[in-house]
Amino acid sequence: MRLSKSYVPTLKEVPAEAEVVSHRLLLRAGFIRKLTAGIYTYLPLGLKTLNKVADIVREEMDRAGAQEILMPMVQPGDLWRETGRWDFYGKELLRLRDRHDREYCLGPTHEEVVTDLVRGEVRSYRQLPLNLYQIQTKFRDEIRPRFGLMRGREFVMKDAYSFDRDEAGADASYRAMYDAYKAIFRRLGLEFRPVEADTGSIGGSFSHEFMVLADTGEDTIAVCQACDYAANLEKAEVVAPVDKCNCGGDCGPAVAIPTPGMHTVEEVCAYLEIEPDTLVKTLLFDVDGAPVAGLVRGDRELNEIKLKNHLHATEVKLATPEQVVAWTNAPVGFAGPVGLQGGLKGVRIIADRELDFDCGWVVGANKADQHLKSVDLRRDAVIEAYTDLRNITAGDKCPRCGGAIELRRGIEVGHVFKLGLKYSQAMNAVFLDENGKEQVMVMGCYGIGVSRIVASAIEQNLDADGIKFPPSIAPFEVALLSLGGKEPEVIEAADKLYAELIGQGIEVLYDDRDERPGVKFKDADLMGMPMQLVLGGKGLKNGIIEAKDRRTGEKRELKLASFAGEFADWRRSVRQGWGLGID
Ligand code: ATP
Ligand code: MG
Repeated sequence: MRLSKSYVPTLKEVPAEAEVVSHRLLLRAGFIRKLTAGIYTYLPLGLKTLNKVADIVREEMDRAGAQEILMPMVQPGDLWRETGRWDFYGKELLRLRDRHDREYCLGPTHEEVVTDLVRGEVRSYRQLPLNLYQIQTKFRDEIRPRFGLMRGREFVMKDAYSFDRDEAGADASYRAMYDAYKAIFRRLGLEFRPVEADTGSIGGSFSHEFMVLADTGEDTIAVCQACDYAANLEKAEVVAPVDKCNCGGDCGPAVAIPTPGMHTVEEVCAYLEIEPDTLVKTLLFDVDGAPVAGLVRGDRELNEIKLKNHLHATEVKLATPEQVVAWTNAPVGFAGPVGLQGGLKGVRIIADRELDFDCGWVVGANKADQHLKSVDLRRDAVIEAYTDLRNITAGDKCPRCGGAIELRRGIEVGHVFKLGLKYSQAMNAVFLDENGKEQVMVMGCYGIGVSRIVASAIEQNLDADGIKFPPSIAPFEVALLSLGGKEPEVIEAADKLYAELIGQGIEVLYDDRDERPGVKFKDADLMGMPMQLVLGGKGLKNGIIEAKDRRTGEKRELKLASFAGEFADWRRSVRQGWGLGID
């Protein structure tokens, strides 16, 4: 593509509205333009990358035996009523009415539609398993759609749905998708981890999120440095600690100590000259309307989802200051487990299991300006359960191999989920088994954020000058810069090279504009094609063209006389640097 004839409106200024770096770069490099909040037009370069991502996804889904279909974006409200999600889904579901006053929504996901499709047609076990997928525009009315393609309201997703005869079949379908996803993210040239994700009410280990690792990612994930274990914080199990004791095994009785005006862990520790790991933090929650105290060590963070799963609760909210006062008879900052249960408002107390291996704690006294020290929770409080409540931290042990855990940031780009019978039961998707007996289909669903991948690839691969696209998804593999200005020999030689590369099936963005070299260099770095070829008057005289690897910045000179061979070698090495072969 000749840049002089292309619609690639680059910007010099950083657009003020863009909050994440991929958004800024996509706007600046002329890949996308905003229509309205969370809704974007893909310009030629943006669309090329989007399509490349989609093509890789499609090839691997087909290879895994899934079949592509295209379902409507507009979905009848009645289908969503069958599964209860019309009421449950909330405001992310954009609802509309037609001229007959019938209710519809714009599809944020397609479980209802695909289950409706299959229940009408599939009657026999012989027609299963079945895996149907589509690559399609979704609409979710996100509250904070301000991260460009990272979190759009309108975005492109690949969603696949599997239907199986039984659990074993569903597990095999799940595995096939899991493997396909690994192949997809490898081919995309991205550093990623499949992480065990929380399955909420469904349970089991059948949910993985695929995370692209990037320092700017929204999610924190625990990654083992020794094995391939990786999990979300809410899922990462903290290994039970070994026995040790703050007091050396003999606390003596609990005693009250004044802590005037000391509300936070830091304040109390500084005032008493103790370390936070000798103090118990008591956090109060409104769990489905009932008071619950969660206890963790002073230097730990309580994970609300772990608490929620332990209690099989629907909603866990941090207690309001009024609730804290009502439940503890003390101002905020002085809550503690001793006397909290039964004595006051019957607060259920759940403690992190680390607290079971120690005593001699400092805890809040449920009185203003007072704490207790030398507390033994088993002796002094009524703890309903000791369980895994806290966030894993760097240096904790891997629950699988005992290796050291490190925390990384990631962006969720894919999600595989075993649904079980949730939708098939609600929507009566049944079939007749070998014995003519009616059975409910076992389902799985598998999403990939196609447009989010474009943003994530940039978040992971960039520098101060711009984007560094992996070769597999760059709009063009090569940026060819002709620096001859109006020199006819240079223009002619560059034109020839352009034609030659295209003839070899290489995709080239040819900067043939009448611009200064500095402008061309800047734009090439900004747009991020992985291989840059720079032809100038001097080089032409000497029979060489300069080649730059955008990822490493490494430069080399290729001889024009033996260009084809030298280019092929260089291309192979650039792609290898990305962990990619030649296709
Ligand atoms: P998130 O927690 O980021 O909102 P989700 O759990 O709602 O994601 P899924 O319903 O599992 O996401 O959707 C499948 C995939 O679609 C996600 O893994 C993500 O890559 C992508 N995705 C979800 N919401 C958006 C969005 N608003 N914009 C772009 N991509 C999205
Ligand atoms: Mg979401």
